[in-house]
Amino acid sequence: MNRKKIVIIEDEPDILEVLSYNLKREGFIVLTAFDGDAGLSLVKKEKPDLVLLDLMLPGTDGIKICSSIKNDSDLHNTLVIMVTAKGEESDVVLGLGVGADDYVSKPFSPKELVARVKAVLRRGTLLELSPEKEKVEYGDLIIDVAKHKILVKGEEIKLTATEFKILHYLASSSGRVFSREQLLNKALGDATIVVDRNIDVHIRGIRKKLGIQPSVIETIRGVGYRFKE
Ligand code: CA
Repeated sequence: MNRKKIVIIEDEPDILEVLSYNLKREGFIVLTAFDGDAGLSLVKKEKPDLVLLDLMLPGTDGIKICSSIKNDSDLHNTLVIMVTAKGEESDVVLGLGVGADDYVSKPFSPKELVARVKAVLRRGTLLELSPEKEKVEYGDLIIDVAKHKILVKGEEIKLTATEFKILHYLASSSGRVFSREQLLNKALGDATIVVDRNIDVHIRGIRKKLGIQPSVIETIRGVGYRFKE
């Protein structure tokens, strides 16, 4: 088995130890750094598959590190999970904006974190995803991109073009959280003329029309939306 390499950048020794122990036990190769600058150097040297990145760090902060990784042609495929303090949703939005692949909020259980690491490794980076998946099926819901059709329990549902794009985009990357801005820019693209730039309105429309309870689109409070995994 190809063992995946993980770099943990975290300045709290206790947390670092727990994370390191639990990930090693799962068979990962784990390398650690206590501050931002050492962390970034380590990432450049080791080219890990995934970085577990605390945002509040001495030296270069997590947002800057994430941005450096994602803007480096050698490193941009590196997966990044941000570790944020509770209630710092604005940091999460910033992090997603600079390309972070997911986040966990403190406090979290080691079990939860390991599960998240595995999920992110499984689905890969956004660049590797195929947002153009032709057909997405989730329970009673079928998104048929080729025919531009949405079916719920076999019945066709009419969505606006904007709603269709947002739903398709979210569903193609299920389990991944997107900020509102990302949805606007990535799902709809710059060239699209969007009558209403308010993502919440479109999401409300999609949920209502699909009529699936609970909704397949989850609200992540203060951050954005994700399609159920
Ligand atoms: Ca910290």
